[in-house]
Amino acid sequence: MSEFIPPAKPIIGDEEREAVDRVMRSGMVAQGPEVAAFEAEFSEHFVQGRPAVAVNSGTAGLHLGLLAAGVGPGDEVIVPSFTFAATGNSVALTGATPVFVDIEPETFSIAPEAVAAAITDKTRGILPVHLYGHPARMRELEAIAAERGVALYEDAAQAHGASLDGRPVGTWGEWAMFSLYPTKNMTSGEGGMVSTATAEVARRVKLLRNQGMERQYENEIVGFNARMTDIHAAIGRVQLTKVDAWTKTRQDNAAFLDANLQGVIVPPVAEGAVHVYHQYTIRVAEDRDGFVKALKEEYGVGAGVYYPIPNHRLPSLAPYAPGLELPETERAAREVVSLPVHPSLSQGDLDRIVAAVNAVAKAGA
Ligand SMILES: *Cc1c(COP(=O)(O)O)cnc(C)c1O
Repeated sequence: MSEFIPPAKPIIGDEEREAVDRVMRSGMVAQGPEVAAFEAEFSEHFVQGRPAVAVNSGTAGLHLGLLAAGVGPGDEVIVPSFTFAATGNSVALTGATPVFVDIEPETFSIAPEAVAAAITDKTRGILPVHLYGHPARMRELEAIAAERGVALYEDAAQAHGASLDGRPVGTWGEWAMFSLYPTKNMTSGEGGMVSTATAEVARRVKLLRNQGMERQYENEIVGFNARMTDIHAAIGRVQLTKVDAWTKTRQDNAAFLDANLQGVIVPPVAEGAVHVYHQYTIRVAEDRDGFVKALKEEYGVGAGVYYPIPNHRLPSLAPYAPGLELPETERAAREVVSLPVHPSLSQGDLDRIVAAVNAVAKAGA
């Protein structure tokens, strides 16, 4: 069997190593000028100059964004269940209640009708996830939020550069979080970026990031240490110069898979949406786990399942959703398979992925 094709592969080059070395030699490694420069560059690159605040993980970004928006005990925040646990966790960590709603089957993101139906007088905000790099139904969600007087936030952890009708993700909500974890579309090692609609929300995220201090030792509020280091920011700044080319390669890889896969359901793209293919996710209705196993063991193709257990079925978060049934969420959790789409794939890898998927799909049909 030929070499294993991994489901994800972070790309760290000489420029990133040199940038780290430069910061190390400066002797100043904690949050400083590299973080400030990274925030400014990220803001221009992805969110049309909105304020952007760097933190030490995407999860911290969600948590601090919610707290900065005033979410706390007694509040409800509407979230998808079909997402990484960090989405539901961050709401629970504020003391608020995550209210899980179902997804629409095409985009895998929360269904606007389900969101509208879940709003109560305790609802503080809606936190959609741009899952797999495809934008959520932001027009409809924005209209619902405005009509019902609730806030809109964004989990853009997987969606750097995605957009809807020409408007980038990260510019719709009161705040939005991008993850910079190594397997995401770009990385800083670990890290997150929070873009905000207003300078005031940005100020609160900054306070929460640094013990509630704007001026040294004059702590205004109770806060965390969620600072990014200059070492991580230096990596992120280099990645920012490369991410557009990587995204283009992801999109080209996805187009090749779309054109050549047979016998499986390829990922749809909504009208007006730019998909950045953090994942290329197909559906396999029968024996998904056997399908993944065959790809791996017979063909050396590393496929992933994101996510096999929805948030509302996890032991940690299930207590927030007693007896809840979300049919499309549960069907997606049973059917999804993410194929390698990352920018390190060669044409030979892509040919092997197509041949493997088509063979396994045919054998199972
Ligand atoms: C990765 C991810 C997060 C968390 O980001 P970290 O940087 O790993 O803390 C949150 N939500 C989603 C949808 C993610 O994919």
